[in-house]
Amino acid sequence: MRSIDSTRLYFDRAADRMDLSENMRRLLLVAKREITVQIAVEMDNGEIATLIGYRVQHDDSRGPMKGGLRYHPEVDLDEVRSLAALMTWKTAVVNIPYGGAKGGIAIDPAKLTNREIERITRRFIDGIHDVIGPDIDIPAPDMGTNSEVMAWIMNQYQKYHGFNPACVTGKPVELYGAPGREEATGRGVGIFAVKLFSRLGRRPSDTRVALQGFGNVGSHAAKFLAESDFRVVAVSDVSGAYYNPKSINVSHALQYAREHHFSLLGYTEADQITNEQLLELDVELLIPAALGGVITAENADRIKAPVIIEGANNPVWPDADHIFEQRGTVVLPDILANAGGVTVSYFEWVQNRQHYQWDLNRVRQELDRVLSASFEQVWTLHAERKVSLRTAAYMLGIGRVGRATILGGIT
Ligand code: NAD
Repeated sequence: MRSIDSTRLYFDRAADRMDLSENMRRLLLVAKREITVQIAVEMDNGEIATLIGYRVQHDDSRGPMKGGLRYHPEVDLDEVRSLAALMTWKTAVVNIPYGGAKGGIAIDPAKLTNREIERITRRFIDGIHDVIGPDIDIPAPDMGTNSEVMAWIMNQYQKYHGFNPACVTGKPVELYGAPGREEATGRGVGIFAVKLFSRLGRRPSDTRVALQGFGNVGSHAAKFLAESDFRVVAVSDVSGAYYNPKSINVSHALQYAREHHFSLLGYTEADQITNEQLLELDVELLIPAALGGVITAENADRIKAPVIIEGANNPVWPDADHIFEQRGTVVLPDILANAGGVTVSYFEWVQNRQHYQWDLNRVRQELDRVLSASFEQVWTLHAERKVSLRTAAYMLGIGRVGRATILGGIT
């Protein structure tokens, strides 16, 4: 299945419950603008590499478009389209004044030098600078990009348009970034876990957690969950998965990863298993926080966790989601579960525009406020309309985008 078909299926399930007309569906689904640009760069060895940069701007009816920039070998236009649409529903679910966008380049940052990544990033911005900006489309980090890349984006954009730090978010705190942005998505996943388990009447201390992915989202989620008394028993990254049935010492694993180029390779305080085995562990909570499409009809039957929180975008394909719905497995969907990052990106943009920096406490408090309100709205809709949490989140997001589109006027 292609990512775009997955997003479309989830959209349709909610649209059916809302009796949305075919014309309205098409209007909400077709992207406003899709850009592909040639990126020709000289590599460190003197050879010329020609890459393709993608930016899909899906919808701007609720505000400037917002979405991450992904550097990963599997990036293609189909995936970027799907992720851009997810951003539209996500910003609407947490009710921040943005639309949705996404970008990416099919490169493997682990195989490139920092200087090469910088040149690729700057050439990409040369190609798209006139269609992005603080009131148009604001990039942010995603898989394979970080605050350093965002600093290069800001610098390159400003060469054309002058001082304007609000043109990109996820910047280093020393360079117009917001304290708490880096931890925000993982922290948000943790905040939702606390709320969801409280609603389900289960205690964190009785909850064993398996987390796939130990990058930005996975590592911060693991830290927050461990601090909130959950028992993290398995973590993983591209090097494999690490399982300790008693519990993983998360701060120790984090320190190990930091000392080993953000990799758990060689971590010996747990048994090494595969990433596939991690997904199928006997745990109470599973958090896929790495790639999309890791849970499909092929492995859904073997997944034992009664609760899944989608830290990654699109980790559960609709065929698996259907099996989970039939069997009563609770899935907290990506468009709510990982919205902490874009929420703090919004706070960063607000601070940049006001030239006033908040402290970490204020960022955390506001994040908690926004996520708690969205969780309650999705939960209420799920209970009242007797739909899954995913369909409830889509209904909330689609309803808000649809109303803004109509209020703004189409003709
Ligand atoms: P990251 O690059 O910081 O980390 C990715 C992690 O996944 C790393 O630990 C990597 O080793 C691991 N990984 C890569 N390939 C793997 C594989 N085949 N099997 C197992 N693990 C693998 O990326 P991130 O920012 O943490 O993003 C992770 C997911 O969360 C993505 O789907 C992204 O779209 C989503 N997301 C991120 C943010 C954010 O603010 N960073 C916000 C919303 C959603």
